Amino acid sequence: MRLEKPLPPNSVIGILGGGQLGRMLALAAARLGLQCHIFAPEPESPAFQVAAAHTCAAYADEKALAAFAAAVDVVTYEFENVPAETAALLGRLKPLAPGAEALATSQDRFTEKTFLSKIGLATAPFAAVEDGESLEKAIARIGRPAILKTRRFGYDGKGQTTLEADTALDRAWAAIGAKPAILEGFVAFEKEVSVIAARGWDGAIAVYDVPENHHAGHILRKSIVPAAIASETEAEARDIAARITTALDYVGVIGVELFLAREDGRERLIVNEIAPRVHNSGHWTMDACLVSQFEQHIRAVAGWPLGSPDRHSNVVMTNLLGGEADSWRDLAREPHTGIHLYGKAESRPGRKMGHVNRLTPRQD
Ligand code: AMP
Repeated sequence: MRLEKPLPPNSVIGILGGGQLGRMLALAAARLGLQCHIFAPEPESPAFQVAAAHTCAAYADEKALAAFAAAVDVVTYEFENVPAETAALLGRLKPLAPGAEALATSQDRFTEKTFLSKIGLATAPFAAVEDGESLEKAIARIGRPAILKTRRFGYDGKGQTTLEADTALDRAWAAIGAKPAILEGFVAFEKEVSVIAARGWDGAIAVYDVPENHHAGHILRKSIVPAAIASETEAEARDIAARITTALDYVGVIGVELFLAREDGRERLIVNEIAPRVHNSGHWTMDACLVSQFEQHIRAVAGWPLGSPDRHSNVVMTNLLGGEADSWRDLAREPHTGIHLYGKAESRPGRKMGHVNRLTPRQD
């Protein structure tokens, strides 16, 4: 179902998922006079604290989903593993954005890479793996080193293992839980960058500047904007985002993770994955842009005109993991630093508890 007309203030946006992304979406919606109704199964969901309404129920609870749909004007989500049945049920009752195709494409790494290469974008060489025999065949074709990843439910490096020259295949297969998988050739990248874009119901597209992303232990630590990349590469990243969103008839904000490799001295972009939602590497937009990725997503799904993605400052976004958020007093004292804490009750090592955006004047 498509949205017939723009949602006026006081309309209700339904959001599946109650983590920090849902929380920041609800805060951005409130600024526009729109209300959010969060649907999530965890009673301690950080988004519940800042939303006009919430439903705490399982994603398979059809009665709760129907009541939720009746209470909202449009449905969106903050995580890509929304069960297909949940999305299908809600999509029959209310406009769902991004749509079911975007969800299905991004939930399965093999479907995702097949889609990307079909629309002419570069990916790592890949092959589907169902068992030990197909893993052997895939290795023979792709070579080593390679990365074996589960097709579904992988995030922050979970469900993947690297096959070095001497890694035994049966051990690698066991390491990922002997689940349907994809084997990817190892990309010798120079850096990781991403592109955050939005597309409206009317097909309008807005793309933010490209951040350079630094990870540790598979978790994003920092996003630096602008990225130290060639202007042609920046333009190519924008074009990649536009091609993906158009091909999926996408509505909302999307995050596209890219590897930057060098070939014959020239920068080359390879798409790693797409996230059909607001993205951690776009959190810098909250303080370095007039319209953040969260407001942009709300604008897009609510049928409003997209805002300008222009960046007024240079910025470094740093995630606050686990105990790092305990230094909130010192961080709050820093000038030109935007501090964002997620209201999570319990801190665990590696858990995303908040982030800071440190601004400096633009140099260009
Ligand atoms: P993913 O879960 O696909 O986002 O992968 C997590 C991280 O593993 C990426 O951010 C990369 O640092 C690394 N990685 C994933 N796929 C590849 C690849 N094909 N070649 C090299 N590094 C990779």
